[in-house]
Amino acid sequence: MTDIGVIGAGAGAAAATHVIDGALPEADVTVLEKSGGVCGRAATRRRADGRYVYDYGANYVKSDDERVVELLTETLDDEGLVDATAPVYVFDETGTVSEGRDADDHKWSYRQGLTQIAKRLFAGTDATIHRRTRVETIRRTGDTWALVDTDGTEYGPFDRLVCNPPAPQTADLLRAADWDAEARTTLAAAAEAVDYRSIWTAVLGYPFRLDRPYYGLVNVDKAHDLGWLSREECKSGHVPDGESVLVAQANHEWSVANYDADPATNVATLAAHAAEIVGDDRLADPAWTDHQGWRYALPESGVDAGPVDSAAEHGLYVVGDWVAGEARLHAALRNGLEGGERLVHGV
Ligand SMILES: Cc1cc2nc3c(=O)[nH]c(=O)nc-3n(C[C@H](O)[C@H](O)[C@H](O)COP(=O)(O)OP(=O)(O)OC[C@H]3O[C@@H](n4cnc5c(N)ncnc54)[C@H](O)[C@@H]3O)c2cc1C
Repeated sequence: MTDIGVIGAGAGAAAATHVIDGALPEADVTVLEKSGGVCGRAATRRRADGRYVYDYGANYVKSDDERVVELLTETLDDEGLVDATAPVYVFDETGTVSEGRDADDHKWSYRQGLTQIAKRLFAGTDATIHRRTRVETIRRTGDTWALVDTDGTEYGPFDRLVCNPPAPQTADLLRAADWDAEARTTLAAAAEAVDYRSIWTAVLGYPFRLDRPYYGLVNVDKAHDLGWLSREECKSGHVPDGESVLVAQANHEWSVANYDADPATNVATLAAHAAEIVGDDRLADPAWTDHQGWRYALPESGVDAGPVDSAAEHGLYVVGDWVAGEARLHAALRNGLEGGERLVHGV
């Protein structure tokens, strides 16, 4: 087994590539990623030549999984790993804030943002990464795989494939695949059965530093339009002294209803919510803003294991949070490690 194709460069794919490259140093790993960066929904942007760094997808990686903790603190260079140590408080339907159960031991990011996880994992391998390369067709010919991108360029042949896109996008790829096997349709159907929650995110910058005891606020009764609000300045290196950057994430229902609405109106609505909940009128008028819609933000369940195993028998390995059954970055990483091991050992 010498040639491995990887669709997507999210955390799951990065962890799988790390394992494959380590166990099969002679293998050639080719990664095709549709966006301009790596780490998928664990996404970071920089602004003003890096004066501002903000995680606008996943907020942090938890220390809930021992293997992932070891990966982040021992296997990878932990230089620049930062912990948002202030607690997460809660708010209810009326926007009333109270101290909450802060369940997470560590809330890790990096000075340069969460994308460091995939960047560091890939950097430790010999994998070739093609960015801005969207896979359109998966093709099976004999015992090998090929991938065709939207420009018609073909990559391969590959002995094994790793597939990392969220379940609905994996299902689309499988439906369109040139692969005549029952495993294709059963995995496509199983992936289609995974429902997702959407999140519309506003990033709000202010030329003053908020004085609050919490890092984040979560809406526990899920009855407020805002689901989550957090302060990037609690992560070292993300926000200049004396300034604040809020990440405001709308809940699923609001995000679906307003997904294609005017972004400026959406941002203004979420800023107004932030002002009311935090109790500071100045927050309604940010100095700068950014935004992102995440249609497939969080899988609500895991995929059935049977079709995943059947595809693996043909050399196609799906990895990611929807395979793990937990909409969390550490779960995607763990699943990628395990998916890589399955590929290496042919199980
Ligand atoms: C707004 C938001 C907030 C979140 N907050 C947290 C949090 O605080 N803590 C936490 O633990 N988790 C959080 N999560 C969840 C976490 O981000 C995910 O569980 C994790 O990043 C999933 O990683 P993955 O590798 O499974 O998939 P992804 O990150 O989705 O990676 C899949 C990759 O495949 C690429 N791709 C898709 N289709 C194609 C194609 N056809 N060709 C080529 N490439 C393709 C995508 O561009 C992407 O890079 C949050 C997610 C969102 C969206």
